[in-house]
Amino acid sequence: MKKNIIAVNATIMIGLGSILAAPSAFAESISDLEQKKASIQEKRSGVEADISTTSEKINNLQNKQLTAEEQIAAIDAKIAESAKKIDAKNAEITQTKEEIEVLKAEIIVLQERIAKRNDVLKERALSFQESGGDLNYVEVLFGSSSFSDLIDRVGAVAAIAEADREILKQHELDKKELEEKQKAVETKLASLEVAKAQLLQIQNQQKQQKEQKAALVKKLKKQTKKEEENKMGLEEEKANLAAQETAIKSAIDLEKNRLAELEAARKKAAAEAKKRAEQEAAAQAAQAAQAKKQAPSHSNSSSNSSSSSSSSSQAPASVSAAPAVSSGTFTRPSAGYVSSQMGERWNKQHAGIDIAASGTVPVVAAADGVVSRSYTSSSYGNVIFVTHNISGQTWTTVYAHLSSRQASTGAVVAKGQQIGIMGNTGHSYGQHLHFELHKGTWNYSKSNAVNPLSYIPN
Ligand SMILES: [Zn+2]
Repeated sequence: MKKNIIAVNATIMIGLGSILAAPSAFAESISDLEQKKASIQEKRSGVEADISTTSEKINNLQNKQLTAEEQIAAIDAKIAESAKKIDAKNAEITQTKEEIEVLKAEIIVLQERIAKRNDVLKERALSFQESGGDLNYVEVLFGSSSFSDLIDRVGAVAAIAEADREILKQHELDKKELEEKQKAVETKLASLEVAKAQLLQIQNQQKQQKEQKAALVKKLKKQTKKEEENKMGLEEEKANLAAQETAIKSAIDLEKNRLAELEAARKKAAAEAKKRAEQEAAAQAAQAAQAKKQAPSHSNSSSNSSSSSSSSSQAPASVSAAPAVSSGTFTRPSAGYVSSQMGERWNKQHAGIDIAASGTVPVVAAADGVVSRSYTSSSYGNVIFVTHNISGQTWTTVYAHLSSRQASTGAVVAKGQQIGIMGNTGHSYGQHLHFELHKGTWNYSKSNAVNPLSYIPN
């Protein structure tokens, strides 16, 4: 879709130059211009359709993003719920562990009581024997293999109180009960640990789901950004088409009443060029006089030529002259050296050339034409677009990064007329003029760009 539009765009011609050059062909040019205007309008509605399609795409992507974000919020709620459950399990586990500790402590106390009671019984058995009892009883008691065996054996000793035996038996029963309780609580602890592990697993799955959704949101955002950039490019193209439409209207008006304006502009440009030439001549003369003063003797032919060539490069930086207007189709738009060629640069297509110079450097129109746009762009900075029509061919020149613009949209400019001052505005690093030449109209993909160095004097 976009490519088609660009192809159509390239066929649009403004017809201004031919009108200016051949006033007798006005009537023919009018219908030509009206046709071109209609064609640009048609093309503009195509771009508008593209913009609405892109807007729809953006809406769609944003809806998907919203849905994914809602899903993430739901997953977050589930994760929080899992976390709560895990906290509850942890509390239960802590409590159960405390219970186990308490039971262990109780068991130790009972074991101590049983041991003490046992000692008491043994002592009684001893004193019973010393007071004249049967020696066999003592042997019986000390030969016992366990507490319960002892109790049974003690039972056989008539002198041991029945109450003591009962206490000992109760201790044994209590101890058994505590040990069983401990076992039960430990079983409960094991099952709690299993439940907790399951909850952690669920929570991990939820976190994974969340990560997947987050990745989706990221992807959608990236797509949205791309579409938004695409839309911005289309908006730029639309604005440019509108500007070209205005330029055509301006060209139609010119047919009736702006020839005088152009003549005045030409005179002004010539006067400016003359003034600049005079200034430069004066500066060179002053410099030559100074050079003579500083080195009055030992001058030969080679040193003379080198001093004259260096004098131009050593001219005061604050007063730069525009290059002389050349006789070719296009003249050089500013003084300076070509600091960057057209072609691939930093993995991007450089659609023009950069001309660099220091000081206050005038920028001039490369050919007669109408300013189709004069505005400030985020990338081009202060920029002027001029539409030319030369022998039936539309051309567009672009002058970017200007420090100031001296021609506004719709202005008629003559070849060599100053339209601004070289600068460093927009996406620029260091003062230079970014100059583009398009055979046809300018478009976002810059498919009509040609190498300016093939057209202007080098
Ligand atoms: Zn550039």
